[in-house]
Amino acid sequence: MITASRYFLGKFGHKMYKAAISLDVTCPNRDGRKGTGGCAFCSAGGSGEFASSSRLSVREQIDDAILKLSSKVPSDTGYIAYFQSFTSTYCDAGYLRQALEEAASHPKVEAISIGTRPDCLPKDILSVLSDVNETIPLYVELGLQTSDDAVAASFGRGYETSCYDEAVKALKDCGINVITHIIFGLPGESVDGMIRSVKHAVDAGTDGLKFTCLYILKGTRYEKLYSEGKIEVLECEEYFDSVEKSLDEVPDHVVIHRLTGDGPKSLLMAPGWTANKRQVINYINRRFKDRL
Ligand code: SF4
Repeated sequence: MITASRYFLGKFGHKMYKAAISLDVTCPNRDGRKGTGGCAFCSAGGSGEFASSSRLSVREQIDDAILKLSSKVPSDTGYIAYFQSFTSTYCDAGYLRQALEEAASHPKVEAISIGTRPDCLPKDILSVLSDVNETIPLYVELGLQTSDDAVAASFGRGYETSCYDEAVKALKDCGINVITHIIFGLPGESVDGMIRSVKHAVDAGTDGLKFTCLYILKGTRYEKLYSEGKIEVLECEEYFDSVEKSLDEVPDHVVIHRLTGDGPKSLLMAPGWTANKRQVINYINRRFKDRL
């Protein structure tokens, strides 16, 4: 298994940390184009709780993020400008180009990562991404979550898995590195289904994977269902058992960017075990020591 830290060390010669950025964008699942309530697990911040305010310029947000990280990271650290909140390509192509070029020109930024949906990559946006990728390594992070269209419909994803397949192909045709986000523990999905999702992303041509456990966050549609006892979350062992099985489907060239994430503590209702980041890291290091 190639971890992101090993991959980035090999590619850039030192550790890389992410400076999270918000653009002034929303998401087609929120503004009415595809839906209004967002995906059932998504918080009001659109998964960008760790990013700075989009009221600041891109440059100011990067400076702010680097300042916050500087006391915790080695002095030779490189930074990835991470456009994290909502759907970062759901905007005018000119606005996106300006934002990406501003990030690329920051002296400490050595790569850019941009989170989006597969149905928000029209030709003019692809052209911007392709141009930027010529000047700085660019990673596009696609929120697939599951390859099962029925499970996806139940949380309101708003696009078919075939759309993801086409997006991966289009990005790969532009030479852009693709990272796919998968959620384990979605209501209605079996362990086999989770493993199928990973295999699907690999077969589609993803270059990297980010796993996360389903979190129940305050203010989401899943909060209500969870409170009513209608949905459950995975225990730590259960989650990592499924992740471990799915890793058998991942070839060596696919980079594992994350084995689990950590939701914003102020919003997290469940699962409680994800709140103790240090404990989870120790568990991963113990359990996956032969793979890391
Ligand atoms: S998870 Fe992404 S696509 Fe779904 S509502 Fe949140 S920002 Fe939109």
